[in-house]
Amino acid sequence: MHEFSIAVSIVELSEIEARAVKATAISRLVLEIGTMAGIEFEALDTALDAAKQHTMLHNAEIVVEKVQAMTSCDDCGHKFEINDFLSPCPQCGGYYNEVFCGKELKIKSLVAET
Ligand SMILES: [Zn+2]
Repeated sequence: MHEFSIAVSIVELSEIEARAVKATAISRLVLEIGTMAGIEFEALDTALDAAKQHTMLHNAEIVVEKVQAMTSCDDCGHKFEINDFLSPCPQCGGYYNEVFCGKELKIKSLVAET
């Protein structure tokens, strides 16, 4: 279950950011996570709830914004949504090499209290 170690990293990074502005607590954290980032969203929610205990985030509202993975077909250039690496282009049945969004995992914003 690697979601827990990801949750711990997210909490640690948020605390570093908050300390940099001399905050004492974090009230809101917004994460941006791609549907193909390799994250199980429900598992991450549970992991974040556990990981934020006894940290600056313990009362924080944590919002996860999902970013739908998109690719474009190598053969015809059609752009389409994907949820796995095996779906061919719906337009021409061709394949693709690059997922241009949907693999991100980042802290979009946080609200710190001083
Ligand atoms: Zn195509």
